[in-house]
Amino acid sequence: MKGPLRMRFLLSAKTIEQLAPTKTEVAVVGRSNVGKSLLINALGGSGKLALVSKTPGRTRLLNQFALGESATVVDMPGYGYAAASGSERASWQRMAERYLLERDELTRIMVLVDGEIGPTKLDVQMLDWLRSYDRPYAIVATKHDKVKSSQRDKRKRELAAGCGVDPGAVVWVSAAKGTGLDRLRGLVLQWLDRSAG
Ligand code: GDP
Repeated sequence: MKGPLRMRFLLSAKTIEQLAPTKTEVAVVGRSNVGKSLLINALGGSGKLALVSKTPGRTRLLNQFALGESATVVDMPGYGYAAASGSERASWQRMAERYLLERDELTRIMVLVDGEIGPTKLDVQMLDWLRSYDRPYAIVATKHDKVKSSQRDKRKRELAAGCGVDPGAVVWVSAAKGTGLDRLRGLVLQWLDRSAG
């Protein structure tokens, strides 16, 4: 047992220039309701960490957390709000693209996919886009506890196929039950370490 990551909220930023300097950073992205807030809270062992990301006015910003002394985690705004207007979507896209392509310290982009419903069209678009720019990503499936144990192997294979990767490349977690969290914490530390020192 490694226990929770040492995470604390730093700031909310509209552009990459407003982010705090860091040595190494991972980002978390996914459609709204995928379970991003619950997962960030669970990784950090606090029910309040990602509360800020849900605060009105901050839902469209990059929310940056410190992890230990020299690393950071960025919670990206959820995509695919049914209510979002065309111009809101365009502005999300501009900010996200710039961040994902130009943030030099970014060592891994965690793309969350709902383990209960599988990848949506927008998830697949995001993954295709990341691959087209050769950006380092990892697929993290959420809500492991919502799928019956007898269905999980099949679901994982389908989810991986829908995302265009091998099942072994998918990390499946439950923020609610704690399943897979220690493994994911270990991976996050590895991803961050890649460019440290
Ligand atoms: P976000 O919009 O991506 O930040 O999603 P939230 O973290 O707010 O979660 C969206 C909904 O899914 C909430 O009702 C959560 O309680 C639920 N949820 C998130 N993670 C899990 C999980 O691991 N298990 C279950 N059963 N529900 C989850």
